[in-house]
This record gives sequence, structure tokens and C-alpha cells, in this order.
Amino acid sequence: MMKINIIEANEKLGSPISFEFAAKAQDIDAVDESYRFDGDIIVKGELVATGRGYRVKGKIFCTKSFVCDRCLEEASQQQEHDFDEEYRKKAPGYAEDDQDVNYFDGDLVDISQMVRDVLLSDQPLNNICNADCRGLCLKCGANLNHGDCGCDRTVIDPRLAALQQLLIKK
Ligand SMILES: [Zn+2]
Ligand SMILES: [Zn+2]
Repeated sequence: MMKINIIEANEKLGSPISFEFAAKAQDIDAVDESYRFDGDIIVKGELVATGRGYRVKGKIFCTKSFVCDRCLEEASQQQEHDFDEEYRKKAPGYAEDDQDVNYFDGDLVDISQMVRDVLLSDQPLNNICNADCRGLCLKCGANLNHGDCGCDRTVIDPRLAALQQLLIKK
């Protein structure tokens, strides 16, 4: 569904041909168990025939929704991801071991797999609603972003804590 026809680009060697696609995350299999992409994933970019192959550059726009790892609330973020890839038509004797090149057949460059890979690999390891998220109180579980619960969260060295216990018992 994200296929770019190269015929026009071939006729205008060196000039960018622009493209734009919209797809649902499920359509391109951009699915992960710890977050989801809501609404349309928009892809805008340009394809240039270089003579050797095709350079495909652009941006992916999406809305990511997830449960924050720190405060456990639903959050959603607008994201933009850049891509800049090289595609080459399969020709007799082509070497598919070139990791930096994507190969295709026919007159259509299908970028959906690449878009999926960029979307998923560009995600941070942790899903945090906001860099300043204060998380939950370890004592009462209150969301500290909504204000302080008043608990004493001073972390006491366990050895000192044991000593304190002894002192209390006396
Ligand atoms: Zn949070
Ligand atoms: Zn608390």
C-alpha cells in the first residue's frame, strides 16, 4: 500500500518526485505490545532516481499512545521520524548482502516494511509520559505528578535502619 512508481522518476533522472501515504499501524504491522500508534501514520517524502538506484527520503508522522512506565497513566505523544534509504532494482548478479541497500522488483518501490522498521526501532527503551515525570510514591502509590502525597520517602541505609530498630526496642 506504500508503493512508489519509479517510471516518472526515471524520466526525470535526478529530480525528486514527491509522495505521501497514510496507513493504519496494523496495515504495515507496526505493532508492539507496550504501545500503539493511534490514527493514521503519515509518510511524506521524495524519491530520486540517481542512475544507480533510488534515494528515498522523508518523514513519518505518528501519534504514539502508551502507559507511562513511571506513573502508569495513559499518555500520548506526537512523533516525527526521519528516513533516508537507498533502493535498487534487482538485476542479474545483484548482491543482496549489501546491508545498506533495499532491493525491489518491477516498477514499484514498496516502502511499508522500511517505514515499519524505522517506526519500531526509533522508539526509546522506556515509555515515559514526560521527561519530568515524577512517577508514583513508593509508599502510598500516589501519582506525584498530581502533587505531593506527604509521605516521608527518605531512603535510609538498611544498616542504619537496623540500628534504628535496635535503638527503638531499648
Ligand atoms: Zn508518567
Ligand atoms: Zn505517598
